[in-house]
Amino acid sequence: MEMDSSLSGINNPGAHFAARKNFYNTPIWSHFARAIPQELKIEGLVVGVNCYGTSPWHLGWQEETGLLLDNVDQGISLRPELIPDLNVFQGNARATRLANLYGGAALAFFSPRSCYFFADGSQCKFCSLAGTAAETQEFKNMLSEEDVRETVRATLQTDRHRIEQIMIVGGTVRELDRGFQHHLSLAKAALMELDAQSASETVSIHISTMPPRDLDLIEELKEFPDIEVMFNLEVWTEESFARICPGKDRDYGRSNILKALERLRDVIGPYRAHSLLVTGLESAEYTIEGATQLAGMGVSPIINVYHSDRHSALGLGPRPSFDELSHVAMGLQTLYDVLPLRPYWKQCGRNAIDAEAKRGLFHNGLLDTLQAQP
Ligand code: SF4
Repeated sequence: MEMDSSLSGINNPGAHFAARKNFYNTPIWSHFARAIPQELKIEGLVVGVNCYGTSPWHLGWQEETGLLLDNVDQGISLRPELIPDLNVFQGNARATRLANLYGGAALAFFSPRSCYFFADGSQCKFCSLAGTAAETQEFKNMLSEEDVRETVRATLQTDRHRIEQIMIVGGTVRELDRGFQHHLSLAKAALMELDAQSASETVSIHISTMPPRDLDLIEELKEFPDIEVMFNLEVWTEESFARICPGKDRDYGRSNILKALERLRDVIGPYRAHSLLVTGLESAEYTIEGATQLAGMGVSPIINVYHSDRHSALGLGPRPSFDELSHVAMGLQTLYDVLPLRPYWKQCGRNAIDAEAKRGLFHNGLLDTLQAQP
């Protein structure tokens, strides 16, 4: 979408919302800085805000009406809702350096804020992690267990009703076993605090990480009740994997990620193991083929929509068309209709379309309605 200059009016004292933090990138983030919400709620679903210079969609702000999302070409006008920031980030500068709000309801810890694939240019081609991290020292690079535990404690005190899940995610260190164990140690710290605050029934823990080389380390996940874990392929075919994820291809390999996903499924249970595919980086048919095969393995496919970020190797390249996206969405819906797949983010679309499929939104005429627009 395109940001209307009226959006600068959003920063009035009454508008308490989660502004975009320079944590995840976007094409034009610096133009409007703090006026850009990182997420919006549209028709009850949280979506990520990615802003491009030229688009028929305009996001603006009026004092009387609040936010307006207009497509003048198609005569569509929506009233998205702002998502309030967590209270813990208002008065706790330390928490602000350690965590982020993701998907309106996930307390997200990103550690480390670096990935060794960038050292030799073998990073995933869509990833903007290094350039984004270099733009600001706003966030701590490597989190400790105490960082996580303290932040979970503070957040439960101020925002208990808001948080549905804790997300541990990060870049990758060269020693993959050590990186995996780092993410596990942060998850354990979060679990200890959830248990201490009697919150583990309502708040789930989710880890997104590279798999370890020693697959026996995955057994350590048994001590987490109801955990969800993601080992990401990013794209499905061997050719796409080598092209888009050269570092992962060289140092771990697609077939080994699939083996790790099978082990993960066996340890934490069918469909609690996830793997993300970014639609738009290969053909829609391949994304659907990948989602279908993963689902057949008992792995929940997570379908992200490619958005081009500055600092990524792909840069501000073309994004998937509506036709491609709707094709993938219908394919995913078919899988959700017959299998107990689980979205990684519970109530959240953000950049993924799984929550929509879980709600059956791709069957209720939504796509037909949008497709019918000129
Ligand atoms: S593994 Fe790929 S997507 Fe993940 S942080 Fe590294 S370069 Fe980025």
